[in-house]
Amino acid sequence: MAFSFIPLGVGDAFSARHYTSCVAIEAEGRRLLVDCPHPIRKVLREGSTGLPAPLDLPDFDAFVLTHLHSDHSSGIEGLGFYFRYVLQKRPVLVAHPGVAGRLWERLAPGMDENDHAVAQGFVDYFDLTSLDEARPVRVGPFEIACRKTRHHVPTYALRVTAGGRTLAISSDTPFDPALIDWLSPADLILHETGDGIHASYGKLSALPEALRRRIRLIHFADEFRPPDGEIEPLVQGRVYHL
Ligand SMILES: [Zn+2]
Repeated sequence: MAFSFIPLGVGDAFSARHYTSCVAIEAEGRRLLVDCPHPIRKVLREGSTGLPAPLDLPDFDAFVLTHLHSDHSSGIEGLGFYFRYVLQKRPVLVAHPGVAGRLWERLAPGMDENDHAVAQGFVDYFDLTSLDEARPVRVGPFEIACRKTRHHVPTYALRVTAGGRTLAISSDTPFDPALIDWLSPADLILHETGDGIHASYGKLSALPEALRRRIRLIHFADEFRPPDGEIEPLVQGRVYHL
């Protein structure tokens, strides 16, 4: 069963070379977008030149948010407006209540009135599906499991399964062996790396080889060059097959 993904953004929050974390996943002809940085339609178009036709927002069944740091979620306002005023429907937004619960607080100053000054709320723009740490949630052909990571704001790692294949995404986290255990049943793990509050490459590259071979790096700094090639960084815009 075909399961593929494209990292549309591989840079960290301060990257001048790459778009920030965003992954398009496809299985059984259906698509999920994980995280949504601005300017999302340009991110999609430039990141999908390896496909016969460029990706655009209507190609996705749902939009998953791991957390509200802007390098992962700054495109949500544009997404909401594009769906409402151009596509005239609501996008399915998938997030844990710990993430979705504060989203409108951030969006409201730009979105809480329409052009007739009528009050608008979250549900006027978005159709929310809540993630649950206790059980996977089904979205089209995808089953999405989540686990909270250690980060400054509520943040959830994901395991996305379809057609018997699983892609795991660490989202933002320090090096955390318990989280890696949770991610490790997946066929492939997209793990962030960076300094400070992020997962150091030194610790990731000390993991057992059999596990390292199933990890690809995302959310890295512009100057990042894996010193030993132990773990492969993702290439923005490349199509990967599981
Ligand atoms: Zn973050």
